[in-house]
Amino acid sequence: MAKKKSTLYRNWGYLLLAGAVVLLFARDIGPLAVSGAFALCFLWLLLAAPTWCGAKNRSEGYCRNNTSGLLGGCRQVRQHKWQRFRGLVRLEPFRTVCRGWFTGAPQQIATCALVVSAIGVVAGLFK
Ligand SMILES: [Zn+2]
Repeated sequence: MAKKKSTLYRNWGYLLLAGAVVLLFARDIGPLAVSGAFALCFLWLLLAAPTWCGAKNRSEGYCRNNTSGLLGGCRQVRQHKWQRFRGLVRLEPFRTVCRGWFTGAPQQIATCALVVSAIGVVAGLFK
């Protein structure tokens, strides 16, 4: 029971995203509230969503340590912490960066949700 509760707690951003989508189609909600909700999801996904590290290991493969947020790497390997962020800044080959973002199911869900929330912010403004 306690485990179920903590899973829900760790994934509240997805619930918020679902709520924001409902708000988008609700008539009496202002555009700022809708965009704000999507923006909050966006930040949550980047900084706090439960995902895998996804940094490239020096050997083959990608790091599978748990981490929070799409932008951060795991804390076990210090080098991983900013690897993905640096990848974006240095414009490493698109495929290398992308593979890190799609390491496994949690990453794929989070990345898709990130795209949805980005679209939601814009869609909310034109609501
Ligand atoms: Zn790592």
